[in-house]
Formats: sequence, structure tokens, C-alpha cells
Amino acid sequence: MLSKRIGVLSESLTIAISSKAKEMKANGIDVISFSAGEPDFDTPKVIKDTVIKALDAGCGKYTPVPGAADTLKAIAVKLKRDNNLEYKTSQIVTNVGAKHSLFNIFQCIIDDGDEVIIPSPYWVSYPEIVKFSGGNPVIVETSEENKFKITALQLKNAITPRTKAIVLNSPSNPCGGVYSKDELLAIGEVLKGTNIVVLSDEIYEKLTYNDQFVATASVSDDMFKRTITINGLSKCGAMPGWRFGYMASVMDELNAAVKKLQSQSTSNISSIVQAGAIPALLGEADADIAYMKSKFMERRDWAVEAINNIKGLSVVKPDGAFYLFVSCKDVEPNSVKFCQELLEKGLVATVPGVGFGMDGYFRISFACDLQSIKKGIARIAEFVENYKK
Ligand code: PMP
Ligand code: GLU
Repeated sequence: MLSKRIGVLSESLTIAISSKAKEMKANGIDVISFSAGEPDFDTPKVIKDTVIKALDAGCGKYTPVPGAADTLKAIAVKLKRDNNLEYKTSQIVTNVGAKHSLFNIFQCIIDDGDEVIIPSPYWVSYPEIVKFSGGNPVIVETSEENKFKITALQLKNAITPRTKAIVLNSPSNPCGGVYSKDELLAIGEVLKGTNIVVLSDEIYEKLTYNDQFVATASVSDDMFKRTITINGLSKCGAMPGWRFGYMASVMDELNAAVKKLQSQSTSNISSIVQAGAIPALLGEADADIAYMKSKFMERRDWAVEAINNIKGLSVVKPDGAFYLFVSCKDVEPNSVKFCQELLEKGLVATVPGVGFGMDGYFRISFACDLQSIKKGIARIAEFVENYKK
């Protein structure tokens, strides 16, 4: 009964595990969830207040497919102010989360057999969406030594005549790597003279702890022309359930294709959500986001030290986002087995590295309060100490 197309798609592992942990909690099981990829902070008040006002003013009508004029304007202002990127509002499309932006883009650019270069560890959904669109993910394994970032040379060696696109994710999920301007310029040099499109997923943009975030499209004219900037408010606006994402590019043919696709699928994204996004985009919630970031930083520092004190585990300190990608190779190289037993016996939910394309690791999200982090890591330490292969 089902199409061949849906048969190639796997369920999102991150969503499956966080749902399981939520269900266990609802059933009264004292599980600590390190699986959630969402901030534990509430959406800032200014955003909620704006929505209430917008509702009272009758904002419930359809908007144009790419978004209402004032929402698109706010995105353009944000991209100029934060990232020094000059996009016209006609070059921006809002989507139902950044995942939907990626989905739309791949549907519009991939033909059967086209290759998309994805550095691993990668966020679980990239290869799945590429496969669903008929493409072949070309996975390039990165190393701890380079903070899990792809090098220009690795990229050069992965390019073939079928290469259509590359996905960059800075700060990255699950490793927290942040690409510097020089690294992006070196990547840009390799791409010069090709037709390869860069999908730059910048959803963790505001959560960097050391170096400044650099937008991929901002490093050179050539990169500006070939990059699709993808962002949203799930992480940096503490609005994951609202489903607000957007894409911007100067490839007008692509923008038109995405608008056409969206006109036959979701139409516009929720008009109410669009209204709420405006103050977040215009920086009115920046103080809330700065507070959230300071808490993440405190948790990261505590958790990295605590994990590295557990014999058999090790982690590279992430420069951004809110995850730790922990090596468990010396305890149990099979990450699914490790995480399953950790959940059943240790009552801590984490995500196996294999879902991110690298076995022998597991992902911890530190988007939960410090007390839970301390309790959960103590459980992990006890579990590892008593682990029998
Ligand atoms: N990109 C990355 C790297 C992510 O971790 C997420 C998390 N969901 C997304 C995109 C999609 O976010 P959303 O669809 O909630 O905007
Ligand atoms: N991006 C988050 C994560 O990696 C949320 C879940 C998802 O969409 O994958 O956990």
C-alpha cells in the first residue's frame, strides 16, 4: 500500500527517544532526559504578549505563502543587523521550522542520484531528507582533532561530478563545532568555479561560548551567491513548539520553486506564529536569550568536567549549541546498546551516536536544569563503573 519513497525514510531518532523519555516520566518513572533538543526555558514574555495583542487585532487570516510583509521585513532586518547579509524580502521564505526549510529545499534541488555532502557527525535529519528527495548522502567523517568540522581538503576529496550541495551546520548539533571565517573561506575556495549549493543551517547561531559566530554567506561574494541561509527560532528564541523557520538566498529560481511547493503543501505558516516571531527577530528578547546562554555555559562547563572525570568516557568541550558528544568507545563501542542499557538500568535518556553517523559516541543535551544534570551524570558514572560488556 505504501510508496517506495516513504520506505527509504527512517523515523527521527532524536524525536523517538525524547518522546519515549517523556512517556516514561508521565508513567511515573524517575528518568532523567538528556535527549531533548529544545531549550528548557519558556518563550520570552515579550513574544507571548505580542501574540496575544496580534490575536486581539484579528491576525488570523491567511498571509502570502512566503510570509506576511512585516515578518519578512523583520527577518531581513535581523539578517542585516546580526549577520551583515543583505537580502530582499522577496528572497526570504518562512517555513514550519528549519526542518521544513531543509525539506523544501532538497525537494526543489535534488534529482535522483544527485549527491549531497554531509559532514559527520551530522544532525539526524539531513541524510534522511536527502534520501527522501531521491539523493545520495555522501558522508564525510570528521575528527575530534578538528573539533568535528570538515576541512577544505576533505571537502575537495568528496566532490564528484554528481555533487549538488553541501550541508554546513555551525554551531553544530551534536558536536557544538563553530566554523571560523578562515575555515569558511577555505571551504569557499574549494567551491569556487563549481555549481555546488551550500545549505548553511544556522539555527544555533546565538549559542556560541568562545568564538564569534560567522554566517557562511557573509564570508565572500561567491559564498553569498551559492549559500542558502537557514535559521529559525526553535533554539535561539526558545520557541521550538511554535514551528518558525526561514530560508534566504539570492537564488531567485530556487526561491520561486520553494514558494510554489509551499503553495501546494502548507500554504503560509501560521499567521499567529509569524506575529510572535517579529519581536524575537528584532532583538526585543535578546536579554532573555543572553540569560539562557549564560545558563547553558555554566552547565556546559560543569558537565564537561564531570564527564571527563568518568573513567572510560571523554568529551571535547563544545564551542556552541547545547549538546555534548561523548565518546564511550572504551566502555561500549556499540552506542545503541550503551544508550539502551543506560536508559533501562541507569534511567538516563541519551541519543546513540550511530544516529548522528558515528558509533562509539552518545549525545547528551544540557538543555535541562543543573540539578538534573548533576543527578544524571552521577547516574551515568555509576552505570559506567558497573558496566559489563
Ligand atoms: N537543524 C538542526 C541542527 C537542529 O538541531 C534542529 C532541531 N530541531 C533543526 C535544524 C530543526 O529545527 P526546527 O525545525 O525546530 O526549526
Ligand atoms: N533538533 C533537536 C534534536 O536534535 C530536536 C529534535 C529533532 O527535530 O531532531 O534533538
